Amino acid sequence: MIGLDFDNTLVDYAEAFRAEAARLDLGGASTKTEIRDRLRLRDGGEIVWQKLQARVYGAGIEHAQMMHGARAFIDECIRRKIPLAIVSHKTRHAAQDPGGVDLREAAREWLGRQNIGIAHENVFFEETREAKLRRISRLGCRYFVDDLSEVLIDPQFPSKTQRLWLTTPMETPPQPIDIAGDWFQIARYIFAS
Ligand SMILES: [Mg+2]
Repeated sequence: MIGLDFDNTLVDYAEAFRAEAARLDLGGASTKTEIRDRLRLRDGGEIVWQKLQARVYGAGIEHAQMMHGARAFIDECIRRKIPLAIVSHKTRHAAQDPGGVDLREAAREWLGRQNIGIAHENVFFEETREAKLRRISRLGCRYFVDDLSEVLIDPQFPSKTQRLWLTTPMETPPQPIDIAGDWFQIARYIFAS
């Protein structure tokens, strides 16, 4: 079993962030990091930033793309009959948008539109990071791919699972991460072993 994180691992929100930046006057900021840094300079900017994220990960997911290389990776797993699961720390509603968009429903609809072969019952949304790590352990994942190194280096991360960090390519991953790179490097690592 290979476990995959969802937000910013399978889902590329760059377009959704660009669309939000265009709505606000952000002086040319367009990436997630640029928008966050620009907003945090403003009074009350942290709240504006959190509300913007609630929109991006909610309604904004309709602008989101599959992360470059992820589809080819999934197709190859299916071809090789390697089971896949999505394990994501995702609450039903954003803290800054209580009663608003159902983030889990929006995520499932996006997955349905992508038409990738991951079964509904192999998609898990968990309330907390701890619950996510317990799920990865219970599923007995041989590998787990995540864009957040904090998840992979968490002391509760299951020791039997290899830690694959989706990030900009680098030669030597920081301990205890097994590999750090884009989807193409991750694919080479898994399919060569
Ligand atoms: Mg993520």
